[in-house]
Amino acid sequence: MHPSNIPILGELTPGTIQRHLIKLPGAALAKDESRPVISITGAKPGPVLFVNAGVHGGEYPAIEAVIRLSNTLDPKKIAGTVILMPVMNLPAFRARTPFVCPVDNVNPNRVFPGDPTGSYSEQMTHALINEFVVHADAYVDLHGGDIPEALVPFVICRHGHDDVSVKSKQMALAFELPYVLTVSKPVQPGKGSSSYAAAAEKGVPSILAEAGGVGQMQEDAVALLVQGVINVMRHLDMLDNDKVESHTETNSKPKPKKTAHSAVATTVLTRFEWLYAKREGMWYPNVGPGDLVKKGQEIGTVRDLFGDTLEKIISPVNGVILFLTTNPSVLENGLLMGIGAE
Ligand SMILES: [Zn+2]
Repeated sequence: MHPSNIPILGELTPGTIQRHLIKLPGAALAKDESRPVISITGAKPGPVLFVNAGVHGGEYPAIEAVIRLSNTLDPKKIAGTVILMPVMNLPAFRARTPFVCPVDNVNPNRVFPGDPTGSYSEQMTHALINEFVVHADAYVDLHGGDIPEALVPFVICRHGHDDVSVKSKQMALAFELPYVLTVSKPVQPGKGSSSYAAAAEKGVPSILAEAGGVGQMQEDAVALLVQGVINVMRHLDMLDNDKVESHTETNSKPKPKKTAHSAVATTVLTRFEWLYAKREGMWYPNVGPGDLVKKGQEIGTVRDLFGDTLEKIISPVNGVILFLTTNPSVLENGLLMGIGAE
């Protein structure tokens, strides 16, 4: 354990939980309020795991999962250190802005690893990577469907045969969500890349896990993300398999005992097809998140405000609907859904 390797947090005391209010560096962030960060320093030495949510400010189950982990993990039972940041993109969280940061209208998850002289989102992502991620042995970025999006729970990580990609995929499988998607290049063009890709590029095994959406606080999604992080901690030998690791677990309803050897049916996907509307209008999907679709299947229509069909949306692949835009209003080139395929 090297808690002093996270200089921005100062001295961390083994066997304790510490609450921090952190000013991130960067001229564009100078007027920001401090961001809450919680460090849980295990009594025993071990890896440093960094977990954040709120790269997108309206993904509430992810944010709640980080808060809940901070209030349930027991430092006496942990080997290593868990660093938790509930909300990175505070301006979007406050304004309930989906997808982007309202300060610069940039999607932070397209500009990692950021730029210390760039716009607000670039400086914010730069600070996250350089003050936290590069000091960690592993990184988990928690997301969900944004305010107008529904999804089936899945994990994304970098595809590859190098050591970091292999370790990332092992973490993704250990998280135990229904789908793991390994991708070798960004699915949406941007100035930079996504959090997990930039972190992997820095040599830190990383995953991005998604559950919940539509701007709601779904308890089942919170529970999946909390349990997923605990599963990753077990995978990293930060928790003993047979120990009760959470103060509240005894109060929760009984569930199947998980062990390092428990097999959850996770489907590994390597293609991620995003579908967009050619013209603006009303969006009528025929499918929901988690639905299996066939290549050539009509999966929705876009109509104008007279109700006339402008476009039939056809699946380009055999796959599964991983996320879906749920609000009917759609713009020209507006994102409709993402389909995962093997
Ligand atoms: Zn997100």
